[in-house]
Amino acid sequence: MTATETIKEEEILATEEPVEEMPQPRRSIAFIGSECYPFVKTGGLGDVMYALPKALIKQNCDVKVILPRYACIPEKFQEKMVYVGAFNMDLCSDGRSYYVGIMEYVWDGVVYDFIDNEEFFSWGKPYTNLVDDIPKFCYFSKAALAALNYMNWTPDIIHCHDWQAALVPVFLNAFFRNTQLANSKSILTIHNLRFQGIYNIPTFKYWTNLPDYMFDYSVLKQGYEDANMLKGGLACCDMITTVSNTYAGEIQTDFFGEKLDAHLRYHNGKLRGIVNGIDCDIWDANTDKLLAANYTAENAIEEKKKNKLALQKSLGLEENADKMVIGLISRLTNQKGLDLITQIFPALIDGNTQVVVLGTGDKEYEDAFRYYENEYKGTVCSNIMYDEGRAHMIYAGSDALLVPSLFEPCGLTQLIAMRYGTVPIVRETGGLKDTVEPYNIYENSGNGFTFDRYESGLLLDAINRAKTLYFENREGWDQMVVRDMEKDVSWQNSAKQYRDIYLQLKP
Ligand code: ADP
Repeated sequence: MTATETIKEEEILATEEPVEEMPQPRRSIAFIGSECYPFVKTGGLGDVMYALPKALIKQNCDVKVILPRYACIPEKFQEKMVYVGAFNMDLCSDGRSYYVGIMEYVWDGVVYDFIDNEEFFSWGKPYTNLVDDIPKFCYFSKAALAALNYMNWTPDIIHCHDWQAALVPVFLNAFFRNTQLANSKSILTIHNLRFQGIYNIPTFKYWTNLPDYMFDYSVLKQGYEDANMLKGGLACCDMITTVSNTYAGEIQTDFFGEKLDAHLRYHNGKLRGIVNGIDCDIWDANTDKLLAANYTAENAIEEKKKNKLALQKSLGLEENADKMVIGLISRLTNQKGLDLITQIFPALIDGNTQVVVLGTGDKEYEDAFRYYENEYKGTVCSNIMYDEGRAHMIYAGSDALLVPSLFEPCGLTQLIAMRYGTVPIVRETGGLKDTVEPYNIYENSGNGFTFDRYESGLLLDAINRAKTLYFENREGWDQMVVRDMEKDVSWQNSAKQYRDIYLQLKP
């Protein structure tokens, strides 16, 4: 070896980043769910299906994500999918079988397998109405398991998400225990208990051909004549998780239990709460290409002002960095506490405050926010639309973000807001309670402003406390902005907790 070669080698050794030791042993996980960013996303489930597998890879997990191949997945992804194979699968009680195609796309270390069937997935959007969605997700849940066998890939853990994939543990127990999947354990994660997949039993019997004992009251049956997909999944899976500790407790009570509280109390020995994180590569104010000015915790106070001015300009609001901008990024449904906001809306407007809304959903809320935009031109802007780019601009350009939810399993918007130095104003429920520490004026600590009971007066009070700090003690406010940006909202901790569960289930 020559001298130069030795030096080069030493240089390389000195500059190489230390390789983090992977935790042992390795685990293989199949993620099964109905949406996943960037292919298709309607809410937080899509974010989690994207970010958690990525974080699990760093925890020495081998992950395949199984999704429906919706026609609405953008062409740029569709054209990169590779055909893996196809087969026919028995599904219905009259012997009707269905085509199952598998298209694969590998990206960033994660393997995505899309279940292809035009009859079920050719709609322009993932969810339409229950009449069509029930057969669609009966088919999808069974096809996902059949696809694993077809690909000869036997995961240690089958991790299913929400009602659309809740029949997976049911099918697994009923039909797949004498296949390669005999020893695979199943986990069902509840992202939102409100959505359960309920329909009459004869329809389910037709579309699943499941044995009668699965329609017992302890499994799928609900009330007198219905079956409930989520209920069945909860009964059949080996572990239930939900997306925050507080929500794990709340859903066992009558108010939050959505009629499954007794069922959840019965199964609470296998129920855990693990709070969501966010993908800190996508949500990084320092590299986000959609912002007018990038920033870190060090220069946030100055640079956020540029984002505020750019936001005001693009939305037609008065351009003034001294105004307090309060954002709302949300599905417009009653879950999100919008009744509280509309009740106090006029009281928010004080000459020094602007409000920016981004969301779509129920007509009554869309109309209410349109009305307020009209009423307070130049001060309020209601963007009744779904727009990722605009969301990034609002997170960066706002001073505070409202999340006064009636219930909130975890909530991602408050996490993204904190990462962008935008102070959350939240109701103390579910994941909001677990992730936003209330401001403490005496200790100058905390990450946001909170209130407990679901009352508009308390929301207004929390907003006014935020305004007081913002307008009367800017230094204290700025310190909170920096604290929020420095808070760890990544997936790392939570991914470790999921890994621990995977290990517990599979000794
Ligand atoms: P949920 O899943 O109940 O809708 P979360 O807070 O868990 O609520 O997740 C919402 C996600 O959807 C966040 O990433 C948020 O930025 C995004 N989002 C919500 N509404 C819009 C919208 N109108 N335009 C763009 N992104 C949106």
